[in-house]
Amino acid sequence: MDEDYPANLIELEERFTTEGACERYLVSLRWPGGFVCPRCQRKGAWASRRGLLICQACQYQASITAGTIFQDTRKPLRLWFRAIWHITSQKNGASALGLQRELGLGSYVTAWSWMHKLRRAMVRPGRDRLRGTIEVDETYSKLRSC
Ligand SMILES: [Zn+2]
Repeated sequence: MDEDYPANLIELEERFTTEGACERYLVSLRWPGGFVCPRCQRKGAWASRRGLLICQACQYQASITAGTIFQDTRKPLRLWFRAIWHITSQKNGASALGLQRELGLGSYVTAWSWMHKLRRAMVRPGRDRLRGTIEVDETYSKLRSC
């Protein structure tokens, strides 16, 4: 288990108040030993405009969310993190309608598609929840590209 994961809703709310906080958390999960450039394999990057890391050596622009279920989302990461929290905390299973209400999503279709994305990503028991969404989705991405 990842001890870095918030223990309860209060911790989640206090910790992920900004997109920057969510992005830093994703970065720490994807590159636990620090960012390594996928192009030149060197370490070190600047955080650029929303969601991008720029390699200090070769200026390669790496998207923090590329290859995760958050890729290309137009919704804030803060909302996604709360969706994950909501789904994992419903003992009897979350519903798309419940998720829509909880997050104030305008569209039921959006809530339904988030439910399915997140459920698919959280199939492995015993995984840290946010970490699981990232790792599993990378596996799916690799399978798709085969
Ligand atoms: Zn580089």
